[in-house]
Parts: sequence; structure tokens; C-alpha cells
Amino acid sequence: MSTAKSDQVADLIRTRPFTFLALMLIIPLFVTAPHVLLDSETPDGILIQPPAIHDPLGEGFILIILDGVGENWMLDEENMPLLNERRESGATLHLRTGPLTLSATCVSEIMNGVPNSPSDGLRNFNLEHPGGDDAWTLAAEGGVSSTNSPYNVGLVGSYVFGNMYGDMENLDFTDTFLGHADYYQGDEDTADVLYQWFENDSYNVIGAHFSGPDKVGHRWGTTGEKYAEKITHIDGLIDEVLDTVPENWTIIVTADHGMTKLGTHGSSQDVTREVAALVWGPQIIPGSHSEAHQRDIPALTIAVLDIPFPVQLHGQIPLDILDISAIERNELEKWNWQAAYERQIFLQSIDRPAATDISPDIIEWEKIPIDAEFTRFIDLLISASTWSLLAAAAILLVGMGFPKNIEERRVTSIFITVLTMMILSHAFIGYVTVLPRLIGAFSSIWIVWWTLNNHQKTSNKEDEIGNWINSMPDWWPWLAAALVLSFGSIRLWFTLIPLTWIIINQRFGNNKFQNNNEKIALSVLGFISLLGVIGVHERLVGEHWVLHLVQLGWPENSTNLLFSILILSITGPMYKYLTNEKEFRKEGIFTSIWLLLILFVNWLEISSIDILALLTILFIGFLGLLQRTNIFSDHRLNIKLPKELDIIALGGFLVLTWGAWSATITLLIISSIDVLMRTQWKWIALEKYNLTNPKPFIAAAVLPLVMWILWWTMLGQVNGLEAWALPHPRELDPGRIIVKGGYVGARDNPPTEWMTLLIALPLLLSSTAIVSKLRQRNLSLRPYALALSLQLVGCFATLAFAPPFPRLVFSLTWNIVFSIFQILAVLLSLSLESLYKKINEMNIKIVISD
Ligand SMILES: [Zn+2]
Repeated sequence: MSTAKSDQVADLIRTRPFTFLALMLIIPLFVTAPHVLLDSETPDGILIQPPAIHDPLGEGFILIILDGVGENWMLDEENMPLLNERRESGATLHLRTGPLTLSATCVSEIMNGVPNSPSDGLRNFNLEHPGGDDAWTLAAEGGVSSTNSPYNVGLVGSYVFGNMYGDMENLDFTDTFLGHADYYQGDEDTADVLYQWFENDSYNVIGAHFSGPDKVGHRWGTTGEKYAEKITHIDGLIDEVLDTVPENWTIIVTADHGMTKLGTHGSSQDVTREVAALVWGPQIIPGSHSEAHQRDIPALTIAVLDIPFPVQLHGQIPLDILDISAIERNELEKWNWQAAYERQIFLQSIDRPAATDISPDIIEWEKIPIDAEFTRFIDLLISASTWSLLAAAAILLVGMGFPKNIEERRVTSIFITVLTMMILSHAFIGYVTVLPRLIGAFSSIWIVWWTLNNHQKTSNKEDEIGNWINSMPDWWPWLAAALVLSFGSIRLWFTLIPLTWIIINQRFGNNKFQNNNEKIALSVLGFISLLGVIGVHERLVGEHWVLHLVQLGWPENSTNLLFSILILSITGPMYKYLTNEKEFRKEGIFTSIWLLLILFVNWLEISSIDILALLTILFIGFLGLLQRTNIFSDHRLNIKLPKELDIIALGGFLVLTWGAWSATITLLIISSIDVLMRTQWKWIALEKYNLTNPKPFIAAAVLPLVMWILWWTMLGQVNGLEAWALPHPRELDPGRIIVKGGYVGARDNPPTEWMTLLIALPLLLSSTAIVSKLRQRNLSLRPYALALSLQLVGCFATLAFAPPFPRLVFSLTWNIVFSIFQILAVLLSLSLESLYKKINEMNIKIVISD
């Protein structure tokens, strides 16, 4: 490309960066994302009747699923002596799970044999039945096709069963889940339910899910005593249950997935995918062994119960362990094959990969692929092209074209190398899981350190690294920032580490302060971010201190009430002192009284009074918005209203929905921003950026991001470090969002839409208030919006590598969700601003025409 042409292209991108990024987004968004995230179709409702020669393989059936007990543990005679003692009298299946090793997805495959689509990983806490029939719905006559079933079906366990079968008729589900922090009681309860069922002859088809081992594993890992103790406990418990199972039943004891030493699972590692199934029954060959897939369990269940075979079930009956005649074995295999054959025909009909050269009469299992190949070549191609275009654009934008001198060549090669490393870290996440997390952590630390630290002081260090960096072209940070902000696995919480350091340094270093506000704002923000750095490591210290503070802000007992009254009493004057020093006493007291009043409403827990409070908040908020226009001013009303009524209203809304702590934090962060944008951070809004001075622009992109993650961390929503001080794989996790506020105004039975509104609205409005405050102090929101858009493109272009790695699907998707959320806040803030502008212009015209 000639220099003139490349300049033209660069100019075009420079003037329309959002259009450029939107174009980059289109293909990954419409080709890769649906493949990675959406459901695949299944031939639900088609059944193959069982062979006439075949009868049920026992008088009853029980399936026991242990959560998070890998084959390495289940077949270990030391840790599970009782279960292993029984192995000789039954069969052992060595199973391999699908690539998504989460509890709900694995339990789903154990029950119905339909392979999960990657988006099922996103629905782990709310995974519904895939539709169609399985052994359980057919046995219960609760399925699509009713059969004359001789069975009564009972399920006992956690929400995993509940989400799949809880609503179904003729199928009884008993919930024994006592939350994620219950390690023993829920399992004991499950066993008690089973004893009762056996005693009363309640059911002859039973599924039981014991979730304790998984929770112990998550909490303490699997290497220490805790997990081994729990495994011994579950061994004893299951042994007792097996003692009480009626005679001549078929029994399967298996696990959904294994666990890593760190106590994690979800990704496609062998240790999480290898599980065992122990099978006993009147027609099970004692001491037999067989290799199988986890989806063979539902096929076995169908054969044991002698009910029609659903075509959507991918499993293969493990015939080697069955004590049946050769003729019956043949018939069963033909039956099983017919279902597999029909499924391939169905897959062909909807243009999905399927075996084509098979016939209904010749059984050729090897031609049927076990796992759908999730990673597609086309997606990798799209990803590579997107990254190449982004890289080329970045190089053009810094005006480089073809690198001319040694410095330019050096920067280009560093840029390309780091970019390649970042992409490869995602592509090879199956081998080194922590690399993207570490790069994401380092990226966050660097970008804040470089942009916000020691702005005035120019480095005159003469050391080697200083020299080396000084010899780089001035525009190198543009490329570095682009790399960091487009990295899909960026770990925003890490920005708080340099932020804390910088703020504490500014507060206690030899700074000349313009006024007291500045000192207080730095102290407040320094304290908050320090708390955010140390108080969130649930997995390391066993407690989420910030979450405790959030909980203390719910007026549920006298301690909480006292804490809430205390912090809200301080919040009003403090917030007002920082934003409107002159009137801080009067307005501060007003603010605190208002917040305490809403706290009282929250304490009452009466829906009608909630509604009254919500309407008052709405009214005050609306007054606050009008206040920002010139429609009415104080002298028109003859009363002097406190300033920033909209923020005060938001504070009340937060007290009601998220509690006193969340309200306090939000008001203090907003007011500290107000002060610091007038003092310490003034340069970010004032200084002009250009090719050789990128700092003001990058700082303007980073500052709102840091303030947002600080606020979000203070709401107790961020996962800190996991074991061994590594970043947690799911830093931003909508699954953590506290839903308590959703009950406000409809405390007995809130509709889902109302709950969603009351949970999400305070968050969106707070985020909007934070960026609006920055905007009000003259910070351009364009760099921030560009950073978020770049993050979106980066995440979508990385999705291509994600399908076999559910944790990567999770973290990328959550980063996408949160980027979109923040973009919404920016758009809302900008729309309000332009609305005020229009109103003011109109109003001026009206005044003039008067
Ligand atoms: Zn788990």
C-alpha cells in the first residue's frame, strides 16, 4: 500500500473508529457466536420400541450420583473402602464424560444422553430438560409420549434435578439442597429420604444426587484432609443406603465429574472427565469391567427398565456387563443401533455433521463420532482474520506503514509477538489453563500503573530498562494499550492493586494539596480500594469480607441495623462535603435523614410501603434531572433544594434494593471522583492527546473502567484470587449478583420481570451516575467507549477457541455481558446530556420569545 493510501485508510479509521470496530464485530458475532453459544437441535419425540424378547433387568432401579468424585477417588480402596469392597459383586464401568464437566451438564447427560451444547455451560445453575423423552420421563409417564408404565419415579437431591424435572407431572422431586456452604447435612437428608422411600415402598425407580463432595472440593481443594474426610463420609453413607435397597433391584453408583487438585472442574481435563460407575443387579455380571461413555448410563437405564429408546439418546448399552442370552444381546444391540441410525438420518436432514455411509442392518459403532467436534476451522479462520485486520489497523494508526528504522522494527516485532502470544494463550488454554488469566492480570496492572502513576514526574532513571524504553518511539503505548484492552481474558480486579498504591502514595507522599477535600477524597478512595484488594479472597481465606459488609447493610437484625444507621448517618455529610462544601451541613443532614428513612422502609418489609418509597424516589429523581436543566431554578420555586437530587434519589434506591453499605459506597465513590477530577486527575480531561502523547487519551479510557470495577468489587460481586494466588477464572460472574432487592415491592411472590428490573436498574443507574460524574467534570467518554468496544471485538474474536473449554466460554461471555452493560451506561449518560442540552436550548428560546 502506498503511503498516501495507507494514510487515507488510517484517517478513515481515526475519524470513524466505532464504525471500524462494528465492522470487525459482524462476522464473529453472526458466525462464531451462534455456534459457540446456541443450542443444537435434537430429534426429540422419536422412540424405538424395545425388542419383544427383552424384559426389565430387575424389580426396581436406583441411580446414585456423587457430585465431584472422579474415578481416581471412587476406585480408591483406601478412601472409599466400603464401596470398593462391594465391587467384586458388581460391574465396573470406566466412563468418560463430555467436554463440559459442570454438575448440571453432566447430570443432564447421565439422565437423558443428549450431548450438551456449549451454551448449556452458561446455564449451569438453571439448566432445564433438553425436551423430548428420557428413561425418567418415560418411566414416570410424564414425558412427551405417554407409555403404560409400571413404574413410580422419585428423585431426591439438589436444584440440578429440580431444574430438569421439578415441574414435571407424575415425577416426584424432593429438594435436599441447603446452599453452597452446606457440606454434610444435605447429603444426610438425601440418605434419610431414601430410607423413608424404601421403607414405604414409595418408588421403584429412584434417582439420588449427593452434592456434598463437590462443595468440599470447591472450598478446600482435593489434596488436603477435608476432601478425603468427606469422601470417607460419603462412602459410609452410600454403604448404608445400599444396605437398604430392596432385593433384586439394579443399582448404579456414579459421579457427574471429577475434580482437579485445586478443587475446580468444568474444563475438559482428563482428571475431571474420568469417572466410574459401579453397577449391581440380578442380571449384572459380577466382577465384569467395561470402558464406556457417560452417555451410556442413560442407555443402560433404558435397557434396565425395558422402555422405548429415545432417538435423541446418544449412548450405547454396555452389553458386556449384562448377564443375558446371546440372542437377547443381539436384539438389544440392533435396537440400540436403530436409534443411532435414525439419529444420523435426522442430523443429515438438518445439515449437521453425521455419518453418511451407514445402513440400518449393519452395526458399525466406530462410524458414529462420540463427541461433536466443537471447534470449527471456519471460526479459527475468522478469528485469525479479525486479529490480523485489528493488528494492521493499529500499525497504520500509529502512522507506521512499513517499519523504517530499527526502533520501529523493534516495536512492530514486540507488538506482533505479544499479540500472537495473547492469542495463543487462548488457543492452548487446554494445556496451560492459567496463562490467559496471568496475562489478563498483568495487563490490568500495567495499564493503570502506566496511565495514572506519577504523571508530572518525568522519568530520569538511567538504568537499562529505562534506556531501552526511552529509545522506543513515543507512540508505543498506543499499541500496548490496544493489546491490553482487546485481551478477552482481561482481569479488571487487578487494576485495584496499582490504583491503591497510587492513591495512598498521592495521599501520604509530599503532595501539595489544594484543599482539604482532596485529602479526604484520596483517603476515602484509598481505603475503599485497599478493602477491594484484600477483602475479596473467599477462596483463599474462606470469607468474602466485602460481601459481609454488604450483608451488614441489610437491616435484618440489631447489629446490621446499628451498622446501617451508623454508616448512613456519616454518608450524607461526607458526600455533601466532597461535592458541595459550602452547604454540606444542611444538605448533608437532609441526605442522611432521607437515606435513614428509606432504611426504615427496608426494615419494615411491607410491600405497599415499598411502593410508596419507590414512587417518592422516582419523584425526587425526576426533580433531580430537571434540576440539571434550566427549566426551573431555585428562585422560581422560592425554596432552595439540595443539589444533585438525582444522586440523592439513587442513594435511596440503593438503600432499598442493595442495602446501606452499597448506597454508602456508591455515593462516596461518586463524590470522591468529583473532587479528584477537579484536582489530581484534572490533567486527564485538560491535556490534549496526540500520536506522541497518548497518556491523556488512555487515562480517559482507563479511569472510568477502574472506577467501575472498584464500585462493582465493593458490592461484593468480584471473585478474587483462587488457590495458590492465581486469578479466579470467573472474575465477573452474573451468577454472583445478589437478588435480594428483587423482592422489594412484591415481597411475597415477585414476578420474574419485576425482580429483574429491581435488581438490574439500581446497577445500571449507579454505573450511569459514575460515568456522568466524570463527564460532568469534562472527561470525554469517547476513549472509554472505544476501550469497551475493543474489549467486545477482542472477546468475540477469541470465542473461536472457546468451545471445548467451558471456563473460557464463561469468562469471555461474562466479559462481553459486562462490556455491553457499561456501554449501555455510557449511552444513557450521553443521551441524558444531550437531552438537557436540547431542553436548555428550547427553554432559552421560550424565555427570549417571552
Ligand atoms: Zn462443582
